[in-house]
Amino acid sequence: MTPVSYFPHKNDEMYVDDIAISDIAKQVKTPFYCYSSAAIEASFQDYQQAFSAQDTLICYAVKANSNQAVLATLAKLGSGADVVSMGEIRRAIAAGIPPNKIVYSGVAKTQDEIHYALSLGILQFNVESEPELELISKVASSLNTTAAIAFRINPDVCAQTHEKISTGKAENKFGIPISKAQLAYKKAAALPGIKVQGVDVHIGSQLTSLAPFAEAYQRIAELVTALRADGHDISVIDVGGGLGITYRDEVIPSKQAYADIVNAQLGQLNCKIIIEPGRSLLGNAGILVASVVFVKEGEERQFLLLDAGMNDLIRPSMYDAYHQIFAVNKAKKSLKTYDVVGPVCETGDTFAKARQVHESNAGDLIAIMSCGAYGAVMSSNYNTRMLAPEVMVKGSKFAIVKKRPSYEEIINQDIIPSWL
Ligand SMILES: *Cc1c(COP(=O)(O)O)cnc(C)c1O
Repeated sequence: MTPVSYFPHKNDEMYVDDIAISDIAKQVKTPFYCYSSAAIEASFQDYQQAFSAQDTLICYAVKANSNQAVLATLAKLGSGADVVSMGEIRRAIAAGIPPNKIVYSGVAKTQDEIHYALSLGILQFNVESEPELELISKVASSLNTTAAIAFRINPDVCAQTHEKISTGKAENKFGIPISKAQLAYKKAAALPGIKVQGVDVHIGSQLTSLAPFAEAYQRIAELVTALRADGHDISVIDVGGGLGITYRDEVIPSKQAYADIVNAQLGQLNCKIIIEPGRSLLGNAGILVASVVFVKEGEERQFLLLDAGMNDLIRPSMYDAYHQIFAVNKAKKSLKTYDVVGPVCETGDTFAKARQVHESNAGDLIAIMSCGAYGAVMSSNYNTRMLAPEVMVKGSKFAIVKKRPSYEEIINQDIIPSWL
């Protein structure tokens, strides 16, 4: 799936399914996120197909896009959820994902969060440290229940991705070192309220090559064999997420090729496989639509000043991320070179430098592509800008799936103390 697969231009006008983006913009006002339901379904079914020969549960990584309409779309297709907070557990449940399809990751789960997850009866805790293991044991014992756990193993492989989204090197904060794993499992097996059932690994995000996965999974296979020899009943392997998407011109291995790697490295162990894709399900299923506020002639550059900013989409300033940018209507326009920037009072509020975009004027619509994952979820009210609404499209229908708040709603969250 490319950035434009589900958002093609037809006769110079950008569409999503049967609806012109400009028609949505008339009703919703910019900026807004727009998701294609068909794109989400297609990439989920792609994973299902690729893993159909293996006993696999797809646990969508909720943090990539936690909108209820997105989660409900995936829940209907049978998806589970990989969550990293109480809030995400609540979102998953509210959208219809059953607790027995929820795996709980995260380095700093609190007692309240563990208590809540245990009371629901989730599928698995992916435990990231020994103190966490002890806390889960304590809470499970107090509830007279048992927590099914896997340790998240840090396999010490380089994911060859941006350093802020690489998680499987020894120096990262995630998981327990593979060299200490056998000791940790021994300890876990002896603790009350704990049932050892699996092994978990997640080495990073936006991986464009399968080699780091193969390396990590090979180490995991060796560990599972060693753990079984130690007497542990390992029946689940959670292989994490991390498969990348095409933002610019990256060539991404197919989901089938990825599934084949999983099978080649882990298939002979006869474990249930959990996969936790996030970006690769949602990334190219969404765009951010903005309007040009002004075209500004700088001394050396021309700026397209948009009504969307880094508070709406932080990936370019946080990860130096590249997003394709198109004029929604290209008719009778030639390409020009622009710096595409937002209104926020920071130089980092830049979506692209020296980018070719069809000539645009104030009021024209601009589409920033590949924003379905890590877009809306990372947005903020910085500069007291409203969170952009979110829209989902299916066929000839569209719905606002998150509305734009009012200024009162934002300002009234603050409280002036009576003693002031
Ligand atoms: C973020 C995350 C994922 C999803 O990563 P993607 O790159 O979006 O597929 C999966 N598992 C864990 C533990 C994560 O933290």
